[in-house]
Amino acid sequence: MENNITKDIIGASDTICAVSTAPGMGGIAVIRISGPQAIDIVGRLWHGKKLDTIATHTAHLGRIDGPDSEILDQGVATVFRAPNTFTGEDTVELSVHGSPYIQQQLLAALVNTGCRIAGPGEFTRRAFANGRLDLTEAEAVADIIAASSRAAHNLAVSQLRGDLSRSIDALRDSLVHIASMLELELDFSEEDVSFADRDLLTRLATDICDKVDSMASTFATGDALRRGVPVAIIGRPNVGKSCLLNALLGTDRAIVSDIPGTTRDTVEDTIDINGITFRFIDTAGLRHTDDPVETIGIQRAIDKARTARIILWLVTPDNIGTDDFEENLREITATISDDTRLIAVLNKIDLDSAPDVTLAHLVSALPQNVTALPVSARLNKGIDTLRVTLSATITAGLDSGENLIVANVRHYHALRDASVALRRVLSGLATAQYTDLIAQDLREAIHHLSTITGSITTDNILDSIFEHFCIGK
Ligand code: GDP
Repeated sequence: MENNITKDIIGASDTICAVSTAPGMGGIAVIRISGPQAIDIVGRLWHGKKLDTIATHTAHLGRIDGPDSEILDQGVATVFRAPNTFTGEDTVELSVHGSPYIQQQLLAALVNTGCRIAGPGEFTRRAFANGRLDLTEAEAVADIIAASSRAAHNLAVSQLRGDLSRSIDALRDSLVHIASMLELELDFSEEDVSFADRDLLTRLATDICDKVDSMASTFATGDALRRGVPVAIIGRPNVGKSCLLNALLGTDRAIVSDIPGTTRDTVEDTIDINGITFRFIDTAGLRHTDDPVETIGIQRAIDKARTARIILWLVTPDNIGTDDFEENLREITATISDDTRLIAVLNKIDLDSAPDVTLAHLVSALPQNVTALPVSARLNKGIDTLRVTLSATITAGLDSGENLIVANVRHYHALRDASVALRRVLSGLATAQYTDLIAQDLREAIHHLSTITGSITTDNILDSIFEHFCIGK
């Protein structure tokens, strides 16, 4: 299947090259060359077996010239002939010694011989243009490279395997089926006959709308799994927030500076529990007692924690049942969104003579869906249970039969837009609206689903997707 897209690079006439390994020095570097002249261009710099005669998907040792026609390095050329290649074009991968000098000189030699330096994601974009990947699969290539936890990796692998595309295509096909029933009716509208059974159409459309909504509802979890689950620790001064953070981080403490979707210089405390990354947000201030957040009250802290998926609300035994406690609880429950899970953590139980009684008080004060856990951050007690609870809070959503998870914000918005259009279809059917209006809303829903896999797309969408890729991908 070739994607029928506008001025994109189907059958591109130029040959592109880029370093596909990480920038900088390495044991080896791989330079990828793709396009109609790939084999010919590399062949002109190559000393070894003639590349245009060798079989596809084979690797050969040889020497390669730099831009001054002197031998630059010894390396391996792997030749892939179109169409069964990643890009769908003739491709050569040159593995050379990984010095920045060799990489740069080899690129210069390739450009002198007729290549162009590839733009960000251009190899993957060509793969899409040549029908080797659909858009969700192309996006999964970027995600798989960026994945830093097992959960994020598994999501990307599932998407690259085409799981999401298959589900979306199935929904779209069902909508096309409904649309065809309506179009048939439109063709015969002169005769004023109603062919399509409205009850049947309503049942079919409701079923699809439910499925679209259910897919969209997995996004909160998918996004958290992909980028790391944001967790906020809040509570009055001196309840032990920074101690708890340190206890949780323990030896697993990691600083992540390059979480996809956040700025590159963001430094966050993260832990990995059962393959899921948890990111503690706004924790830098917790380590300084002079942090203004400590002094400006809990409301402000909750505001800062709005982006959290899990809030750890820390309380101490002497705090339970006081006016202050009640007020904080009201503020927190009134502020947090449906997607946020609250866990009440009772800290300093080592100071409590009857911790079970205190915990029972706490539980009775909390809404039913809020978990309460006793810990001693100082003595490292209850911390493992808290870790398990954090992980279970996220995986609970996954065990409820939702094996397909939407983790990409573009897909999420397209599903939401499709759902809005489908609701108009349903209300049109319910109010016996003109068939052509219903058909129009139906086409809109089909359009939104089609943008996910890229069977309908625009240069703008493609540009915004591929500009986030690295060069060489
Ligand atoms: P924060 O202001 O909420 O960040 O609180 P800190 O983490 O700075 O802790 C305030 C004080 O409580 C410090 O003196 C800690 O040593 C103490 N503390 C924290 N956790 C515990 C605990 O589990 N048990 C006891 N006894 N003291 C604790």
